[in-house]
Amino acid sequence: MSQFAIIQPATTERNLGGVCYMPYWHYAMFRQKMEPVRLYENVTMRDWDRLLELHKKDRLLVDLSSYPQIDFVWSVLPDLVRAKTEFAFIGYEPLIRALGLPFFKVKNEELLTGVFGYLQYFEEYRYGLLSDCDSHLKHLEDGRAVVPLFLSVGCKRGCPYCYVSGSNYPYGTASDRQIDALLNLCVKQNWNIHFTDENFFAHPRYRQIVERLRGTGLRWICLTDTLSLYRVLGEHGAEWLRGGGNALNEVGLEVLDSTVLGKQQAIAPLLERRHEVPIFWLTMTFLPRDTLGSMRAMGDFLRRYGYRLEELLPRIQTNSTVGGLGQFMQLYHGTVYWQQREKLGRVFTERPTRLWPSFIGHRLLSSRVRVCETLQKEDEEWLGLYVGKARVEETLQEVDGRKTFGEIVGEDMAKAVALAQAARLNLIEEVGG
Ligand code: SF4
Repeated sequence: MSQFAIIQPATTERNLGGVCYMPYWHYAMFRQKMEPVRLYENVTMRDWDRLLELHKKDRLLVDLSSYPQIDFVWSVLPDLVRAKTEFAFIGYEPLIRALGLPFFKVKNEELLTGVFGYLQYFEEYRYGLLSDCDSHLKHLEDGRAVVPLFLSVGCKRGCPYCYVSGSNYPYGTASDRQIDALLNLCVKQNWNIHFTDENFFAHPRYRQIVERLRGTGLRWICLTDTLSLYRVLGEHGAEWLRGGGNALNEVGLEVLDSTVLGKQQAIAPLLERRHEVPIFWLTMTFLPRDTLGSMRAMGDFLRRYGYRLEELLPRIQTNSTVGGLGQFMQLYHGTVYWQQREKLGRVFTERPTRLWPSFIGHRLLSSRVRVCETLQKEDEEWLGLYVGKARVEETLQEVDGRKTFGEIVGEDMAKAVALAQAARLNLIEEVGG
């Protein structure tokens, strides 16, 4: 009997976004419909021949949700065509369509059954735990598993770099019945929870959810936006939020875009309260509007409010920048910035991830650079970990106020990172466009 076989190619990307849950959401959707399905996680080329041989009669669904998976896809495509196997792709629809690959389209309502059914099959997944955020809870070592839990999915705020707002991304909220069942399951299984909703405190039932976990001993983390956290703290107070103990392990705040300075002012009073509420936040740089000035401002902010190196060690593999958790803007097919990419700057790779710069805006490329200071002792440790002290020093030697950032960097993204880090450390400044 033919069945669906979901193949999730391994990826080198460490900082996995929500879209990378697609193979699991599809698996759970088929399981809910009682359709036969198998899931092959983290598949490499070594597994490929065997899988293809095993499943000639199956309908293969190959995941493409992370850009580094493209190479696997190009390698296996001739085999799929040659074997006349029935196949299609699931994952990030705009990318799949742009590559001219067949896309397995599922209605939003159907996919939602998988999003909110994902956890029921948790013990059938070999890996399952996708988010880098989960390692923040894993290091607690209280013996409990950490599970990602979506009680809502999608977002319609339309940030120009974000794929989540696209019409092709699932959007919806779990029903009251589903929420109760999922929370009961977590309590029964004694699982710590990573709420993977894009904005947990915008969820219409966040109060009941927090209350439900009170007294269970479970720890949880969530993501939210700055305004929602202000609102919740104003309405309930920090003690309520912490669940009368350490139940709330962390609140992750929305990305702090280095080019929106007002955001830093807005978030600062919350960061002053980190002794009351455990907060972490991400920064994002290399946006189209970024300049050396905006990176220096971010550096100043991180010096004041940023984390110490020791605080960041558990998550250092997935987010890394001096003084804070950093990501580099990545262009996703189908987003506003993707459509405007030629006007906005230069794309440096077809395999972007958020942990390495893949795009530099024209504004940054055309700014001229001047050295201001020398490297301070306390910065050396950071640079040694992330960029390489020698690389920063070497790049600084090339700085010449008559040259633009683009001329110094040339085609070398490593130099661009070194220069951007130097700006954050106030080692260099911008002298004009
Ligand atoms: S970045 Fe966050 S707020 Fe903006 S569209 Fe994406 S999920 Fe929504």
